[in-house]
Amino acid sequence: MVDFEKDYPLSNLTSIGIGGKAEYFVKVRRVEELIEAVRFAKKEGIPLYLLGGGSNTIFGDVRGLVIKVEEFYPPRVEDMGNFIRVRVSAGTPLKEIISLAVKENLKGIYRLMGFPATVGGAVAMNAGAFGAEIGDFLERVRFVRWDGEIEEVEGNELELGYRTSPFPHAGIITEITLSLRRSSAPISEEFRIIRERRRSTQPINRKTSGSTFKNPDGEKAGRLLEISGMKGKRVGNVSFSEVHANFLINHGGATFGEVLELIETAKERVKQETGYRLEEEVRLVEDCGSDGWKVL
Ligand SMILES: Cc1cc2nc3c(=O)[nH]c(=O)nc-3n(C[C@H](O)[C@H](O)[C@H](O)COP(=O)(O)OP(=O)(O)OC[C@H]3O[C@@H](n4cnc5c(N)ncnc54)[C@H](O)[C@@H]3O)c2cc1C
Repeated sequence: MVDFEKDYPLSNLTSIGIGGKAEYFVKVRRVEELIEAVRFAKKEGIPLYLLGGGSNTIFGDVRGLVIKVEEFYPPRVEDMGNFIRVRVSAGTPLKEIISLAVKENLKGIYRLMGFPATVGGAVAMNAGAFGAEIGDFLERVRFVRWDGEIEEVEGNELELGYRTSPFPHAGIITEITLSLRRSSAPISEEFRIIRERRRSTQPINRKTSGSTFKNPDGEKAGRLLEISGMKGKRVGNVSFSEVHANFLINHGGATFGEVLELIETAKERVKQETGYRLEEEVRLVEDCGSDGWKVL
């Protein structure tokens, strides 16, 4: 039996630290608990939101169920000679894989260092940085479909795009198998350079949820925000960062309403000044309708 909590405060569950309360909240540590939580939402007729590391999520007040997917078991690592196969549960912090990559000198995936994602959240978003995407390393994904059936697909069968995947619309990811090639040259120097680039160009030590908007084709959302005068623009306790114009910063006590107001202003200004229509990368979660919801 899982323990559903009522009126659960959400702000500590996301990297930006904003949020009201969830009508219902549950942490799941096993597949059976996950299925039980989905059945509960179905029975109650309420929407649900799946939460991984909360590094791409901003909460308001949630009338429904928030399910926090925890790490079900430690990574299972198999040495295959010139590559490593690692099987992880969806709630595993991505940084565990990055540490493995550094220790074993594995190609590419170390570029996804520096953000507090879970592997499941990273696959759902097809997270990427510095020319690498998590999709490049996917061997298999196991998930629970919304009808309760468990399904497994090969990584190359999944339709992945720029910050998009079939999830969570196709179901809830439970297990991911990654195939990580050994590098013939040492990765440590490039790892260090990327870490420095992140530190100097992104406000990684502030309360933020990373990129607010997706980059339009051939453009940078940060540049468009900057030329539209949005860099540093503040509403209440939230602003676009002075370090990176596409990152929102919670200066302490920011509200969801302030976030929405700032985002709307930014979209209008950018449209007016540059003609581009910005689309949110960050998941804005309140009541229902935001991406990631499943109304059952
Ligand atoms: C400082 C900082 C830097 C960042 N830099 C980058 C970057 O360089 N590149 C990049 O791509 N992103 C970046 N991000 C954004 C964020 O880290 C990624 O989008 C990450 O993949 C989100 O993972 P999460 O586990 O935190 O997801 P969450 O925010 O918890 O959820 C994101 C989405 O995934 C879904 N989801 C979560 N778990 C599951 C599951 N088990 N099954 C199905 N769906 C699920 C959720 O429902 C939601 O729709 C950054 C964030 C921060 C704070």
